[in-house]
Amino acid sequence: MQLPPSAAPRSAYPPDVLPEQVRRRLLQLARAGEPVSAYVYDGAVAAERARELRAALPGWAQVYYAVKANSFPGIVQALAPYVDGFEVASVSELELALTAGEPERTGTAPVVAAGPAKSVPVLTALVRAGVEAINAESLLELHRISRIAVAEGVTARVALRVNPADIPISGSLHMGGAPSQFGVAEPDVREVLCAASELPGLDLVGFHIHAASNNLDADTHAAYLRWCVEWSVRTAQAAGITLRHVDIGGGIGVAFEGEKPFDVARFGELAGQVEPPPGVRVVLEPGRFLVADCGWYAAEVTDVKASYGEWFAVLRGGINHFQLPTSWDIVHNAAVLPVKDWPEGCPRPAAEDVRVTVVGELCTPEDTLLRDVLVDRVRAGDLVVFPCAGSYGWEFAMHSFLGHPVAERHLL
Ligand SMILES: *Cc1c(COP(=O)(O)O)cnc(C)c1O
Repeated sequence: MQLPPSAAPRSAYPPDVLPEQVRRRLLQLARAGEPVSAYVYDGAVAAERARELRAALPGWAQVYYAVKANSFPGIVQALAPYVDGFEVASVSELELALTAGEPERTGTAPVVAAGPAKSVPVLTALVRAGVEAINAESLLELHRISRIAVAEGVTARVALRVNPADIPISGSLHMGGAPSQFGVAEPDVREVLCAASELPGLDLVGFHIHAASNNLDADTHAAYLRWCVEWSVRTAQAAGITLRHVDIGGGIGVAFEGEKPFDVARFGELAGQVEPPPGVRVVLEPGRFLVADCGWYAAEVTDVKASYGEWFAVLRGGINHFQLPTSWDIVHNAAVLPVKDWPEGCPRPAAEDVRVTVVGELCTPEDTLLRDVLVDRVRAGDLVVFPCAGSYGWEFAMHSFLGHPVAERHLL
């Protein structure tokens, strides 16, 4: 979905930016009685994103959905037929992926797993599930996987997660070399591979690199893919490893107002010019890109008030349910969905043709979702609806802070 750009001062979206069936479901919820704070998801939208990306890519590429972006079971299930597998980090994400996917398709569970602090219980569950690749983050983790695999009498497929020193992905843009808790720093890779080759119960299939984030540029993402493949081929050769698996992580971006969406067709075309050696599959792990626009977050306006000349719309909800707009410094615009009924029998406060700041129900000024947005009209009892709320929304929020009821989740 491409959101329309807004003029300055920023105007709220018109309600017709919301699909008809989303509006209908939200108005149903508003009539149902309890003040609304809810996510509405459309599984078909997520499925379409996955289908589109998968269809654009060459046969050696595989799309694994990064479950952390949206772990609502209905969404994971909607994506299952259109992705090659799932990327998980915890036992509960693993279980979700195993029940949503089709393990019989490849003979092993179509899952890869990453995470900088995989505990022995997590690693044990991954080894037992026989996942495609455990992305090992350190030498100690390789030792643990080896020990578990030997005890279980199996061989565990592992990919070494690498934090590269420098990724020259275009003339001017460089990534990598930043200290982090993720993976093995490139200068240490040789030594770790050498030590890993001595460990029983491991099959080192390749490498995992997750260095891109919210990238909207198809050219640089394709160049990043190419770099990951070429680096992996070189490194495997030098270490005497039979390379079968290159995982380039997630990081395909989602456009907000005024930004140009990621060009999937162009990315596929450029990726098609990369030639991984035969027998090597390249795994992409998009999260946000697949699910951002399949979700809408809606909260009822509990109160409307003016304070020293500024207007506030106060929501039944906020960063306890939808933290993204504040934590990522993105301006996440919203629409006001008018609700006709006003059963309270007292004057209904309203703000008309003014700038309004949209805040939540928490007792902290941090709980601000949208500042100074020009609205035609917002009244107590109306709904404020944020499109493009399907990724890192419900999962990312601080549900327990102040103890209000958690946001509902509905599948269309
Ligand atoms: C979070 C994450 C992803 C998904 O990232 P997006 O930016 O949502 O595409 C993929 N792989 C790993 C290892 C991650 O941690």
